[in-house]
Amino acid sequence: MKFEVIQREAVLLDPANGMALKKIPNEVRKDPLTGKTARICHFRELKWKKPDFNKLLAGTESWCPFCPDRVFKVTPCFPPEILPAGRMTMADKVLFPNIAPYDRLSAVATLGPRHYIPMTEIEPQMVADGFRLALKYFRHLDQIKHPESVYHLVSWNYMPASGSSIIHPHLQVFATSLAPNLLREKLQAAKDYMAKNKTNYWDDLVTAEIKTRDRFLGKIGRTTWLSVFAPLGSVGDVMATVAGVKSTLELTDDDLLDLATGLTKLMAAYDRMGIYNFNMSFYAGAQTDDHARFHLIISPRIYFNPSIGTPDVASLGRLFGESVCMGFPEKINKVLKIEF
Ligand SMILES: [Zn+2]
Repeated sequence: MKFEVIQREAVLLDPANGMALKKIPNEVRKDPLTGKTARICHFRELKWKKPDFNKLLAGTESWCPFCPDRVFKVTPCFPPEILPAGRMTMADKVLFPNIAPYDRLSAVATLGPRHYIPMTEIEPQMVADGFRLALKYFRHLDQIKHPESVYHLVSWNYMPASGSSIIHPHLQVFATSLAPNLLREKLQAAKDYMAKNKTNYWDDLVTAEIKTRDRFLGKIGRTTWLSVFAPLGSVGDVMATVAGVKSTLELTDDDLLDLATGLTKLMAAYDRMGIYNFNMSFYAGAQTDDHARFHLIISPRIYFNPSIGTPDVASLGRLFGESVCMGFPEKINKVLKIEF
């Protein structure tokens, strides 16, 4: 396992210090699996001021399609050949087709009746139940032998900086035979890795990270939590892998609760940093992919300049696919580790 770092340095004349020579270090890291590079730079203090939530949320409940008085009236239903009941429920959570689908099957699952839930009040059980509802839908698709029942992916865009247009907590529940770019690239690279090394990449990654401990956060059941060496996000990413699991369909009820528990621990840590937006996605193989290992990634999102709503993705990320992380993942790890 090679964690490659290319050390760089920018030299400039510093206006804050009489134009004296200033050297600013940064690094380019290569992802050990895909070789994709990530820049570690800027090194600003990883602390943000939270906005006035009353102002942010004002009026959003009046039109919210996921609030309990509207969810069964305004959300679509599946056609009978997919789901005769139209929608799927689990206690107070509801799953239905996305009104703006991006494939043959895109579903959305609400996480209960509450319109806004601060990150610190999100309970592991609530998240686990949301995941259970998604699994119930995926297992149903598999049972009816739907051709899109290949990759079973759950994403969570929490609060607007994550790309979410609706405050009400909900999951994107996506079954597809066409894996999205990064998943496809990872699976191909892991297949090549297995052909060469005769081992599973993520199993080797976990072994290597537990040995060095710089990015290891902890274990919950058979989930292992790690800070990502070459992250996609501006405040680093955290990955959780599930030992022995290839596809989402193999996750047990305990695994779902363990994943939900780890996520809420991270939310508590991010909240202390003033972070209140994140993306989360499952990365899973097809059921026959021995080279795959189920993992999820949570990536906190921020505004570079909150006063004018500047997002944390600019040309470098958007058009070059190059990520910028504003702190060393190993340092961010120390802040998060308090919760594990
Ligand atoms: Zn709502």
